Amino acid sequence: MRILLVEDDQMIGDALCVALRDAAYAVDWVKDGETALRVLDNHEHDAVLLDLGLPRRDGLEVLKKLRTNGTTLPVIIITARDGIEDRVKGLDLGADDYLTKPFDIDELLARLRATLRRQGGQATPLLSNGIINLDPATREASKGGVVCLLSAREFSLLQALLIRPGTILTRAQLEESIYGWNEEVESNAVDFLIHGIRKKLGIDAIKNVRGAGWMVARNK
Ligand code: CA
Repeated sequence: MRILLVEDDQMIGDALCVALRDAAYAVDWVKDGETALRVLDNHEHDAVLLDLGLPRRDGLEVLKKLRTNGTTLPVIIITARDGIEDRVKGLDLGADDYLTKPFDIDELLARLRATLRRQGGQATPLLSNGIINLDPATREASKGGVVCLLSAREFSLLQALLIRPGTILTRAQLEESIYGWNEEVESNAVDFLIHGIRKKLGIDAIKNVRGAGWMVARNK
């Protein structure tokens, strides 16, 4: 899952990047509203964490523009403005959730998971294709009675596949789901991670489609 963080405060931005990466998200960080809109045009992200007080374009303007363009991307507003008016305005403009600074990082992560889950049309917190279950809150995967803990990147890769069971994802698509912009992509990272997941969950957990990419079975 790839998150766009829009935040002009260096300290808060740094802290959020670390926390989100620790929680296995790929994170890209921009510091003004204009850049945020330009980046969001590329449709690379799965959710946006949006500050309201931003240079060049206010967060509410960014949100309004996004929704006017018909983008359904999940947006969580994070801001120091605790006025009821801004909160209502943000939600009315199409924000999915709202957190007032200072907030607890665990609460932010839980809200992010809930928002992404709703976006995927999923009521339960577990991701599953009927064979493999994955818990985004704990990064635990299970298959046929075997339960194991995945590394942050193993989790991101398996999550990308489990969101779309039966769909082949290319190497580039998998890399995009595990790396942010300024992270260097290691050339055989995907093979390495798939090897690790198969070691934990069994060789048949992820299917290789020669010359095309990888997928998990659709078994619902
Ligand atoms: Ca700000």
